[in-house]
Amino acid sequence: MVHDTNDYLDIREGVRALCAQFPDAYHRKIDAERAYPEAFVEALTREGWMSALIPEEYGGSGLGLTEASVIMEEINRAGGNSGACHGQMYNMNTLVHHGSDEQKRLYLPRIASGELRLQSMGVTEPTTGSDTTKLKTTAVRRGDRYVINGQKVWISRVQHSDLMILLARTTPLAEVRKKSEGLSIFLVDVAEAMRSGMTVRPIANMVNHETNELFFDNLEIPVENLIGEEGQGFKYILTGLNAERALIAAECIGDGYWFTDRATAYARDRRVFDRPIGQNQGVQFPIAEAFIEVRAADLMRYRACALFDAGQPCGAEANMAKYLAAKASWEAANACLQTYGGFGFACEYDIERKFRETRLYQVAPISTNLILSYVAEHVLGLPRSF
Ligand SMILES: Cc1cc2nc3c(=O)[nH]c(=O)nc-3n(C[C@H](O)[C@H](O)[C@H](O)COP(=O)(O)OP(=O)(O)OC[C@H]3O[C@@H](n4cnc5c(N)ncnc54)[C@H](O)[C@@H]3O)c2cc1C
Repeated sequence: MVHDTNDYLDIREGVRALCAQFPDAYHRKIDAERAYPEAFVEALTREGWMSALIPEEYGGSGLGLTEASVIMEEINRAGGNSGACHGQMYNMNTLVHHGSDEQKRLYLPRIASGELRLQSMGVTEPTTGSDTTKLKTTAVRRGDRYVINGQKVWISRVQHSDLMILLARTTPLAEVRKKSEGLSIFLVDVAEAMRSGMTVRPIANMVNHETNELFFDNLEIPVENLIGEEGQGFKYILTGLNAERALIAAECIGDGYWFTDRATAYARDRRVFDRPIGQNQGVQFPIAEAFIEVRAADLMRYRACALFDAGQPCGAEANMAKYLAAKASWEAANACLQTYGGFGFACEYDIERKFRETRLYQVAPISTNLILSYVAEHVLGLPRSF
């Protein structure tokens, strides 16, 4: 197929070979049990895929976001769900770009070796949602510690991560010139925090995604765990968020190809009214349309990643890639489910699982409306709506 001739074939083939050891039945069972794909993430770590973005001098492979996005794409394209492990990819950018030399020396080699996982990022809060700069969790400096109080929601993979990047307000909103100022990011040692002021409450949800409410009650963090300069955290986290959007786009693209491949194969084989259902244009067209949209999103993903890797502004492209890809994978999911008819609802075909999984990406990590408002304001120059 045309999309098999993409670049980065060495990466694709490596990830595919690993994913082949974890077939549909593995992911289906993990989904049914609402378990964490520990063996899968462990294998990805062992083979070095989870340290793709760590510079070589710290034991990683020093690859760019483009290559990282191909890794994520291939996981989803093979029927897996990168949601179990993508945090390490986008968090890595924050630590590599804004961490001190000492922080990098301390953490990166241990993350590269698999001793530590940096899978969690704590941004969203229950009362402020998408209005991130109004978040209420505070970090107050007392001597050589910051004291954290507040609450987060939807914080993923906390129970399967050693480290979390946490965004909290260090200067009250009323005292800053711009609302994006006065926020800071910290590296939190998850196990230590759970012993001394952080409570984790899991949220049962539609997909098999380990995500949680977090409560902070006078959690103390050493000052050396502050990343970069105090008050500049929002700016730093935006680098990570652009990377996250491009990576999520790649995952959706992987899902999109998975759905169009499955739908095509099924439409060719399934015979009703004495002919393959795929001979009917009513069945062909939605699959073809979804495929076209996935391909278009794929191009925008490469553009966003190339800009990011060149150190150029990529907010518009990363947002647009994520928008297009999330929409395309959802259309592909619908076309695939419709093509399978009743069988699409049977767990053993995996369509319903992937259908649930790909739906998330129009809501998280940023909802479609917020992307549209970003483009309206920052690309088209329309007045800010909120
Ligand atoms: C499974 C899952 C995992 C997640 N993992 C993480 C994580 O690891 N870390 C983390 O920090 N967060 C995480 N999130 C949170 C996620 O980033 C948020 O859910 C998302 O940003 C939307 O915020 P919200 O849910 O508070 O929705 P709200 O902000 O309450 O918005 C609700 C709806 O209203 C719309 N809306 C709001 N304001 C406007 C406006 N001005 N104009 C138009 N429409 C508007 C939104 O588009 C949305 O559709 C996760 C969420 C889920 C569901």
